Amino acid sequence: MDVVNFHSVTKQYGAQSALRGVSFDVNQGEFLVIVGPSGCGKSTVLRIIAGLEHPTGGIVQFGGRDATALSPGDRNVGMVFQNYALYPHLTVFENLAFGLSAARTPKSMVRERVREVATLLELESMLAKKPGQLSGGQKQRVALGRALVRKPVIFLMDEPLSNLDAVLREKMRMDLRRLHEQTGVATVYVTHDQVEAMTMADRILVMQQGEIHQIGTPDEVYHEPETLFVARFFGSPPMNAINVRVRHREGGWAIVSPRHGERATITHPGAHATEWERLAGESGYWLGFRPEFVHTGRGEGVQFSVKVTDVETLGPRSHVHAEWGADSLVYVLEHGQPAPERGASVWLTAPFSCLHWFDEQNRRLRPQNRIGHVHPVQEAAGMTNR
Ligand code: ADP
Repeated sequence: MDVVNFHSVTKQYGAQSALRGVSFDVNQGEFLVIVGPSGCGKSTVLRIIAGLEHPTGGIVQFGGRDATALSPGDRNVGMVFQNYALYPHLTVFENLAFGLSAARTPKSMVRERVREVATLLELESMLAKKPGQLSGGQKQRVALGRALVRKPVIFLMDEPLSNLDAVLREKMRMDLRRLHEQTGVATVYVTHDQVEAMTMADRILVMQQGEIHQIGTPDEVYHEPETLFVARFFGSPPMNAINVRVRHREGGWAIVSPRHGERATITHPGAHATEWERLAGESGYWLGFRPEFVHTGRGEGVQFSVKVTDVETLGPRSHVHAEWGADSLVYVLEHGQPAPERGASVWLTAPFSCLHWFDEQNRRLRPQNRIGHVHPVQEAAGMTNR
């Protein structure tokens, strides 16, 4: 049985549509990360799960039962906010005990449960302190403990690490994952940070403008993005994306930009003749390839003649920015590879295996209609479409 189900949930704030028909499930024990740019509706989803907001349309279920109209107190959710929301005048013990005491739990049980949670979160030596005497990371752990103490059916976290510095954030990412593995409580975690999503999630739910673009494992959203938006949201620098058409040229095919007329040649297209023929229709596509998977020089794949505009040196690697006609492209050079001069003309090859194709509505083409990116796991298992 799923912990929570959303069925076509919508939310209007006046004329503003915050959610436009959102459906997904939270599985038992999973760590689900909701990610997307600011304003896409992530917090609204979380607040609807918590019961702090009610949907305009659709159904929310808890444990298979309709919970759309249940009040927050009847849902048994544990919520952790960005600002911790601790009571400053209470000790750590009292903060942890607050929810249980308010629910008239017997004192001995409160003590036992608080001790259990304090041990789990390594807060035993801080129980007599006030929040003002704690570091950011410690406050964060108290906030987690306070949510955990009531044995919630689901944990909800809204950007809980955004107030911490980079070093502490990295440590807390690992601590939160470990805590999740110890407690096994299903968790929905909201962030706008792709790195948090990639490193913490069992599954990632990607949102934009009140809609879900994809739900999948970190591996799936990176290697098999369903939309151009997902493709460009994950990865740094983002995936290159150019608007192209496929045209017959010299007994084979070429990639042409309808915008600026530049042409890219295809070497050894024969291995994919059926797919190239299918792609050579009237309509255009978005062609994507990640900066880390293209190489300089002429090789098997799609060859672009580009002009270098900038080189960013980042220690272990460099990002080279270049122009293909009026399109900007980026590629990555690993440490030790010589960087080109600004203004240099360079050949760039995107191997067939790294190509991603999207239609003009930005949706991924079905496998039979593309010369496709090969998922490494599928490739290892011999399940390729090549
Ligand atoms: P996110 O968490 O992804 O930043 P939110 O869920 O907070 O996004 O907001 C989604 C959209 O709904 C935004 O456009 C926001 O301005 C709007 N919104 C959120 N809460 C309210 C509210 N209480 N009143 C009016 N508009 C709201």
